[in-house]
Amino acid sequence: MTKLTRRGLLSAGAALPVAGLTAGAVHAEAPKLGQSFAQHRRFMIGDFEVTTILGGTTPREDPQSIFGMNVSEDEFAEVSRQNFLSTDASQFFFTPTLINTGAELILFDTGLNSEATLGALASAGYNADQVDIVVLTHMHGDHIGGMMTEGAPTFANARYVTGQVEYDHWAAAENEGFDANVRPMAEMMTFLGDGDDVVSGITGMAAFGHTPGHMVYRIESAGQGLAIFADLANHPVWSLARPDWEVRFDADKEQAAVSRPNVLGMIAADRIPAIGYHMPFPAVGYVDTGNDDAEFRWVPEAGQLMG
Ligand SMILES: [Zn+2]
Repeated sequence: MTKLTRRGLLSAGAALPVAGLTAGAVHAEAPKLGQSFAQHRRFMIGDFEVTTILGGTTPREDPQSIFGMNVSEDEFAEVSRQNFLSTDASQFFFTPTLINTGAELILFDTGLNSEATLGALASAGYNADQVDIVVLTHMHGDHIGGMMTEGAPTFANARYVTGQVEYDHWAAAENEGFDANVRPMAEMMTFLGDGDDVVSGITGMAAFGHTPGHMVYRIESAGQGLAIFADLANHPVWSLARPDWEVRFDADKEQAAVSRPNVLGMIAADRIPAIGYHMPFPAVGYVDTGNDDAEFRWVPEAGQLMG
């Protein structure tokens, strides 16, 4: 048996032909290409093919003006430090999800605008005309922003599904975004209550608070489960791990602080993978119960879904 020692490696190197050592000198320097990020991630849940697509990402300053509004600056800083997060800026991700059931292609939320969403959709191998059903988890601008392209429906062949409570709230709210992007689809829209199915195996669950009728979705196919928790928690540390921290974007902060542990507790107990619209891309992971400090823990998927 040959033992590889440092000396052995050095002498092996020394035995290389001289041309091999100097070959690098004839190469041009590779150009720097700037940051890059894959725009989709696909995996199977039972017989369903699930794809997350990156509809956008943007930095935001002063994260405590958004998360942990009800905790001290010191506590926010300490939790951030423990998790290698800056208190000066944070990165936001926007992640629509596609599920191909084999019978229909279903898109959950439409992103900030159709251009970015269609770009990510194309990178994943789809075009807008293939989408059969658009599900809206709730009606904030970063979820309904891709519904229209230059005044026409982006997903020309789609019908729409959303929560009844959510629709009714915005329909009465005189909201510009809703009136431009959602109201024109009313004729093609069906409405869910808590526990109703989009299609067999995809069930809506009331998780109110972030908005008056915000819903999350429970997926079951061939014995495997998945949760799509949308904006139930908008950051893995500052919201998911600390569900009682107030979030500026939650319309009813008390109700959101009740819905968060309810749904996260279910996902943790069932040990199923989950997709969160604002989790760091590809936005796929697991939720574990936490410890003394944190009530829950976001565990990014680490290859478990590649089998
Ligand atoms: Zn959102």
